[in-house]
Amino acid sequence: EAYIGAIEAANSSLNAYVAVTPDKAREMAKASDARIADGNAGALEGIPLGIKDLFATEGVHTQAASHILDGFKPRYESAVTANLWADGAVMLGKLNMDEFAMGSSNETSHYGPVKSPWRATGSHEDRVPGGSSGGSAAAVAARLCAGATATDTGGSIRQPAALTGTVGIKPTYGRCSRWGIAAFASSLDQAGPIARDVRDCAILLKSMASTDARDTTSVDREVPDYEASVGRSVKGLRIGIPKEYRMDGMPAEIETLWQQGIEWLRDAGAEIVDVSLPHTKYALPAYYIVAPAEASSNLARYDGVRYGLRVPGGNLAEMYENTRAEGFGREVKRRIMIGTYVLSAGYYDAYYLQAQKVRTLIKRDFETVYADGIDALLTPATPSAAFAIGDQEMNSDPVKMYLNDVFTVTVNMAGLPGLAVPAGLSGEGLPLGLQLIGRPFDEETLFAAGSVIE
Ligand code: GLN
Repeated sequence: EAYIGAIEAANSSLNAYVAVTPDKAREMAKASDARIADGNAGALEGIPLGIKDLFATEGVHTQAASHILDGFKPRYESAVTANLWADGAVMLGKLNMDEFAMGSSNETSHYGPVKSPWRATGSHEDRVPGGSSGGSAAAVAARLCAGATATDTGGSIRQPAALTGTVGIKPTYGRCSRWGIAAFASSLDQAGPIARDVRDCAILLKSMASTDARDTTSVDREVPDYEASVGRSVKGLRIGIPKEYRMDGMPAEIETLWQQGIEWLRDAGAEIVDVSLPHTKYALPAYYIVAPAEASSNLARYDGVRYGLRVPGGNLAEMYENTRAEGFGREVKRRIMIGTYVLSAGYYDAYYLQAQKVRTLIKRDFETVYADGIDALLTPATPSAAFAIGDQEMNSDPVKMYLNDVFTVTVNMAGLPGLAVPAGLSGEGLPLGLQLIGRPFDEETLFAAGSVIE
């Protein structure tokens, strides 16, 4: 009831939820009470969560914040949300996001932007919560849920977490089942939690992760007790500091924050080692070829026949055209066009194939430092603090917006786990975060090192 009340009071201003499900929440909470009374409590019994609108929730609004999925209510439940309900969690509703998870500010949503609950000191200007999981991050930061699900294709868990002073982890590719999550770029997409602290993140990830035959990229591996690694000593851990992440024009306060993180880990007994990931500068351009290529293929299914919106036309082709013209927003159309272009005959070799080769080189960079005995890497999570909603520079040039992902996309290209953890405030009093990057399936080291920083 406290969360339902908080949502009622604050959501019309923050716009974090696109659908609130109080009846369902009460019904699930009642079932939780009964299980607790029976001595049958699950790991998340009665914990109220918000769910990103990208996850299919049976009989409940699921539109990926897009007009093209108008009225779509799936007849099935995503694997990740089913795992959460099986452990006793309670659903509060569906959270706003960038349309089909394409964006870094939550401004591409069909439902309009999400406001961050944070403002700069002495200012009334509304800031973005980051994206694409902007609703998840804002809802957690504003205490409109105890934790939230999110997804990360190029930074969409870590960047919004960093910009809102919350904690988010993108686990290793294959750790959470993608079944029932609307596909953006299937070889990069992963689900993960956004929560208030590292411990909550560890607890939520344990419930979200599973092996699932319905997702062929899901990995058959025991899910560890992540919570046990929270607060574990980092003594003797070798933390790499990749020099290529020290980018030209990086604000001094980001540099200072990074240095502070290094000191904290060193003081806690970790060994700090300078390392090199030489192909880092190619990651962003390669990502913005691979991700749109996969998106253009995945989004072909929204044809006005199978799901959501249908805009009639004189014949079938016209119906497709009208539906897609009206149903998709600007950014989604831009991605479909870029993706179709880079996959087309004559351009495939020059762009897509080239980007795939770059992807292999990026992956090898990480393999090399890990083979040299590095346990995890520490980098900034974002190149700046949250910008204003409607920021001219970001919204007039898509490439400027894409630059927000410069520190996060490498992790998706290499399939590695990445944790964003709050590390301080900007000069304007806005949250800033650091990122820890781990070895494949070693989320535990990230939770251990993350709890030193938070
Ligand atoms: N901001 C990136 C993009 O727009 C990443 C999005 C994501 O991780 N879903 O593609």
